[in-house]
Amino acid sequence: MMLTDTHTHLYSDAFEEDREAMMQRAFDQGIRRFFIPAIDSGYTQSMYDLEKAYPENVFLMMGLHPTSVKENYKEELLHVEAEFKKRSFYAVGEIGIDLYWDTSTLEIQKKAFRSQIQLAKKYKLPIVIHCREAFDEIFDVLETEKDDDLFGIFHCFTGTLEQAKRAISFQMKLGIGGVVTFKNGKIDTFLNQIDLKHIVLETDSPYLSPVPYRGKRNESSYLSLVCKKLSQIYGLSEEEIAKITTKNSTEVFGV
Ligand SMILES: [Zn+2]
Repeated sequence: MMLTDTHTHLYSDAFEEDREAMMQRAFDQGIRRFFIPAIDSGYTQSMYDLEKAYPENVFLMMGLHPTSVKENYKEELLHVEAEFKKRSFYAVGEIGIDLYWDTSTLEIQKKAFRSQIQLAKKYKLPIVIHCREAFDEIFDVLETEKDDDLFGIFHCFTGTLEQAKRAISFQMKLGIGGVVTFKNGKIDTFLNQIDLKHIVLETDSPYLSPVPYRGKRNESSYLSLVCKKLSQIYGLSEEEIAKITTKNSTEVFGV
């Protein structure tokens, strides 16, 4: 069984002490492919180090995370563009709008989101969207930017059935992670009404650990718990869930 973690911050300081052992636990669970979202220029070198250590398994994205969109965001966007000129990546991400941490930056978050969508179109790459308390704002931007070249993943999807359908209408897959195992996570109640072809798996580690590790550090090996939960929701074997969601990830990332 081969699983794909489509969103994991393996370069995070949270894994400083035991990164190798943590990676081995993921390999032991059949997780072989790790897609790595960027945050800001402060993490770029550690992402390259990670890629160097696991060249067969690690696939890098590049982008500016909405919570890192601050006064210096233009400089940060220039960094993103410069990296794209230097080498290739598998997606522009993670990008989007986050109104949970800071609402005062909404206008510049929108600008950064839009300009990175245009970057993705230029390189014909998928986008990986971070959305927190900002569905309407994100859908507004997607509505004006949508075209055949725009596609990607709505990462850590936690919306309603209606929002799920809307996201899919913009050629986005839904990234499903630990929240699907939460008692009050809600998405488990309607997910079986969404065709599995629209679903990819993710951990978002070190954040959002699935039950029974909720509240603790998350790691990619816990993706198997997300897979297990989806197997219950869809009434399919875990092997089948792993196969279909890995195929979906290949469709998005081209690898
Ligand atoms: Zn993330």
